Amino acid sequence: MFDTRELGRRPGTLKRLTRTVEAPADFGIEVIGVPQGAELELELRMESVMEGVLVTGTVRFPLAGECVRCLEPLAREGTADFQELFSYPDSEFSPRFADTEDDEEGDEERLFLQGDLLDLEPVLRDAVVLALPLRPMCQEDCPGLCPDCGTRLAADPDHQHDEPVDIRWAALRGFTEADASAEPAGHDKQAKAPRPGGDEPQEN
Ligand SMILES: [Zn+2]
Ligand SMILES: [Zn+2]
Repeated sequence: MFDTRELGRRPGTLKRLTRTVEAPADFGIEVIGVPQGAELELELRMESVMEGVLVTGTVRFPLAGECVRCLEPLAREGTADFQELFSYPDSEFSPRFADTEDDEEGDEERLFLQGDLLDLEPVLRDAVVLALPLRPMCQEDCPGLCPDCGTRLAADPDHQHDEPVDIRWAALRGFTEADASAEPAGHDKQAKAPRPGGDEPQEN
């Protein structure tokens, strides 16, 4: 909450201020966000205008999250700019006094001063969330995790598996041989080619 009393209601009056506030909960998206209680550094410019107070500002914030590909924890910093008009509830310019029917959608997004106070939290939340990377990664084009063993490939670029591949082929070979030896005598050992007809007599 910010007090606008010092600003006064005379249009054209300006006030600049810097402020550090604690981040509320839910300042972020699932994969990355501002930790609750972290410091949001605000630079604000409040300007008294006819219909209310126009707030323009920049917020600097720390971020914590994880790489969407390899789940490595991430720490970043971000900044976001915002501008929002807080209307006087009793202003003749307020849409409450204008015709309402067509204006309902715009009305919902409209913010009002609460007495001399303005609540920046929803404005800050929107600005921060819009500035977040949707798919944060520990490095550009993170290679993710090894599908076989879960090793983080960004930390081990030469990582590969030779052994399991050999073992799998060996296992396959074993099956094929067992299959072939179970066949009635007289059949050729066509170990590698699939035989669609099974034991049926072959057509021309
Ligand atoms: Zn990563
Ligand atoms: Zn691996």
